[in-house]
Amino acid sequence: MTERNYTTVNPCVMCQPMGSVMAFKGIESSMVLMHGSQGCSTYMRLHLSHHFREPVDIASTSLSERGAVYGGSENLKKGLRNVITRYHPKVIGVTTTCLAETIGDDVRRILQEFREEENNADDVHIISVSTPSYEDSHTTGFIKAVDAIVRHFTEYGMGNDIFNNKLNVVLGENIAPEDTRELKRMLKATIGPRSFIFMPDTSETFDAPMTGKVEKIFPGGTPLSEITYMKNCAASIGLGITSDNRAVDHLETKYNVPAKRVPMPIGLEYSDRIMSVLSEIAGSEIPEAYRKERGRLIDAMVDVHKYLYGTRVAIYGDPEMVLGMLSMSLENGMYPVLVAPSCKTPAFREHAQERIDAMNLDCEVKIFEGLDFDAFNDAVKEAEPEILIGNSNGKYISQQIGIPLIRVGFPIHDRVGAQRILLMGYRGAMNILDRITNTILETKDIELEKKWLQNKSNDLQESCCDLRSAHMQPH
Ligand code: SF4
Repeated sequence: MTERNYTTVNPCVMCQPMGSVMAFKGIESSMVLMHGSQGCSTYMRLHLSHHFREPVDIASTSLSERGAVYGGSENLKKGLRNVITRYHPKVIGVTTTCLAETIGDDVRRILQEFREEENNADDVHIISVSTPSYEDSHTTGFIKAVDAIVRHFTEYGMGNDIFNNKLNVVLGENIAPEDTRELKRMLKATIGPRSFIFMPDTSETFDAPMTGKVEKIFPGGTPLSEITYMKNCAASIGLGITSDNRAVDHLETKYNVPAKRVPMPIGLEYSDRIMSVLSEIAGSEIPEAYRKERGRLIDAMVDVHKYLYGTRVAIYGDPEMVLGMLSMSLENGMYPVLVAPSCKTPAFREHAQERIDAMNLDCEVKIFEGLDFDAFNDAVKEAEPEILIGNSNGKYISQQIGIPLIRVGFPIHDRVGAQRILLMGYRGAMNILDRITNTILETKDIELEKKWLQNKSNDLQESCCDLRSAHMQPH
């Protein structure tokens, strides 16, 4: 790759509070108040609403020069009052931006003061998350917020201590509403409809049906009453293996809720892993419907193998999605020549290598963690993939190099339907395999058409020349 002297150009990650917002939006009756300057919340609102195609309200404490110099205590308290009176939420997630972190506002102390000063704040759970963006990415912001929510509802004496036989299922990375629905369908089929607590659940809040009613906070999300019981559950599953799942770890160390970590079920191998864990927990066989789905996926893999085998692919985006897509491309005979998770995580490389080593690959797989798009562009040129798999931000590379981009992950702001992209489970794998294969076939068709048109125009030119020279012959 080209060596450059300057710092990040077009980062692949988004800021920590963005991840925090996505976690809070999966909780019942929750509103986010961003402590910092106004532009941060505007950027996040736009990004989220372009991706999910839903209005996404995020309040801001709108710190100005005065707040930046003298502290944002007054703005934060005023913001909280406004959010309570206008939105009537049950939960307010206070997430900090770079400015609030840099000036060193003591958010916990300000919230304590606020609770003492206000009489009407008792009914609302105010949960703060420290999310300085210069420290980490949106994926960490998500993990931190989920952890803060679980700690809040379990540590403040809520929930009774009666053991319940449920399973906590805690995400380690934001996923599409359609994938949430798919995972819940899997859980219902294997361990039973009321046997799990899924957290956070954005299946309704980021993909709400049109009812004709204007909702300030969309219904749905993980019910608060359930979160309080997470400490009494029989076990937890942390979905995602590249980073720590702090909430699941906390439930294990503090409340002895045994935890298991599984990869996001993307592709055959990773879907099999979750299904076998769930059937083990349920103490029963994998349901017949899922065995059929698995069989259909294998059938689909056989069908597309001749098109996908040896196709060079570059995968980038959030780490869990990238790991899953790497696994899926390997099991379908593709050559993942370039793999670039947007941020560094403790265990991505280890798990990626494990999957690569399990295959006898005829190509080198380059893994770059935490690249910006500028460096990624160089890496793509060197690796020479035939397709890109990742979010919308790679579209300029795809256009420049002239290879197709399969849009998955977050953000997808230049196409519709991102909230309905199914990636997880056997059905998700079939959906993505079809998309990849059809894209390859369409690209071939376009190339053939171009060649055919070129040949046609060459033939036409030749026949014109023949005609001209025939007319120029003396009679
Ligand atoms: S200032 Fe910080 S929190 Fe705000 S948008 Fe920029 S990176 Fe994100």
